[in-house]
Amino acid sequence: MADAFDAIIIGTGQSGPALAARLSAAGRRVAIIERKRFGGTCVNTGCVPTKTLVASAYAAHLARRAADYGVVINGAVGVDMKHVKARKDRVAGRSSAAVEKWMKGLARCTVFEGHARFESPASVTVNGAALSAPNIFINVGGRALVPPIPGLHQVDFLTNSSMMEVDFLPRHLIVVGGSYIGLEFGQMYRRFGAEVTIVEKGPRLIAREDEDVSQGVAEILRSEGVGVETGAECMTVTRRGDNVVVGLDCDGARRSVEGSHVLLAVGRVPNTDDLALDRTGIETDARGYIIVDDQLRTTAAGVWALGDCNGRGAFTHTSYNDYEIVADNLLNGEQRSVAERITAYGLFIDPPLGRAGMTEAEIRKSGRKALVGKRPMTRVGRAVEKGETRGFMKVAVDADSKQILGAAILGVGGDEAIHCILDTMYAKAPYTTLQRSVNIHPTVAELIPTVLGELQPM
Ligand SMILES: Cc1cc2nc3c(=O)[nH]c(=O)nc-3n(C[C@H](O)[C@H](O)[C@H](O)COP(=O)(O)OP(=O)(O)OC[C@H]3O[C@@H](n4cnc5c(N)ncnc54)[C@H](O)[C@@H]3O)c2cc1C
Repeated sequence: MADAFDAIIIGTGQSGPALAARLSAAGRRVAIIERKRFGGTCVNTGCVPTKTLVASAYAAHLARRAADYGVVINGAVGVDMKHVKARKDRVAGRSSAAVEKWMKGLARCTVFEGHARFESPASVTVNGAALSAPNIFINVGGRALVPPIPGLHQVDFLTNSSMMEVDFLPRHLIVVGGSYIGLEFGQMYRRFGAEVTIVEKGPRLIAREDEDVSQGVAEILRSEGVGVETGAECMTVTRRGDNVVVGLDCDGARRSVEGSHVLLAVGRVPNTDDLALDRTGIETDARGYIIVDDQLRTTAAGVWALGDCNGRGAFTHTSYNDYEIVADNLLNGEQRSVAERITAYGLFIDPPLGRAGMTEAEIRKSGRKALVGKRPMTRVGRAVEKGETRGFMKVAVDADSKQILGAAILGVGGDEAIHCILDTMYAKAPYTTLQRSVNIHPTVAELIPTVLGELQPM
């Protein structure tokens, strides 16, 4: 006989725990299942530990630049990698423990620690126990993609997960993948003191962004001594003594990078291959992402998929928003939809990139009549005062409706200032509202109204 619940949640990522709490508060009997560490990717191997490490790397960077600010440090700046890792472990460990305590203390909620597999659309097994519920929520997240690069398995490559155990300084870290995760690790390890080369298959870094953003990011990294190799169309990996050689050309011989360690950061795959979905009628796409409608319902009645595994977002805030959508629709009778969400994310190199809405390339492709304003950070007072003037801010608006279409702020405070724009977009207010707002001086955000006053046809 299966243990009967009102709801089963698989995974304790960024939507599962909040959903468990909300369902439990509504009087539902909930089972939540976690096979590894509570809190999932963001807490254990993603946002929280990486941003904690970015903070250590920033401290090292600033210490090396101390003289620029008139601060005297007598002696060389050193980085104690064991201490850096211990700090990261403390911060991430506290977050994970908090999620575990929260779930285990929740009324009407039973926590199962083990791997969940479906038996049917309304039942799962975990550790040999059978559980059933009319509603099942999948929040299983994803893991690092390991592409079929010839020779890769002959070396001990690292991923974002195994990087969490690194408590030493690699002599030369080769980062395969010039997108968000790879760039954060690349700059961080350069600042810790390693030689770093980022190897990217495409013609430029973070190819999803506009060219000026890619170029600005590459300049930031290169200015700190990070090697950037783009156009590495067919990579190979070979061992040479204690070293690893990554071949970049199709013949593998002419262009190559030799380093001590390789970090793979070429994308993610959803954890949907070991859920026995074939017993459920839940369909996935060719890459394994669970197909959902705009309310995050799967193709099996009574089963929802939330977070990275549904392919509708790849961020902590999108996973959490998935929870809000599902909970409000289920418990409050609302009709919230994922289609209402505006694309927004950060790239947490230093200075960071804050992004909202469409890129300039997407706007051009849409055929809209648009206006764009751009200002280098050298003309932003706060950036000058802080001694960090790399990057720029750019905002695009619809020439007819006056709605903001998209923005990129690559520069100090860009990850925060972008929210002025994002919130205006959510409010569906015309850009003139933001143009006339009186922002606090001295901030990066205070220049957004100025940029909006200098718009030019795109
Ligand atoms: C290096 C890195 C840095 C990142 N930085 C950021 C950032 O700065 N900002 C941001 O917004 N996002 C960031 N992300 C992305 C972010 O971590 C994820 O989008 C976020 O964690 C949402 O994940 P999720 O809720 O889908 O599930 P996850 O957090 O991946 O959790 C899924 C959970 O399900 C469990 N599970 C899986 N299968 C089973 C099963 N069969 N049975 C039981 N349990 C199972 C897993 O063990 C895991 O704990 C980063 C990701 C990485 C890798």
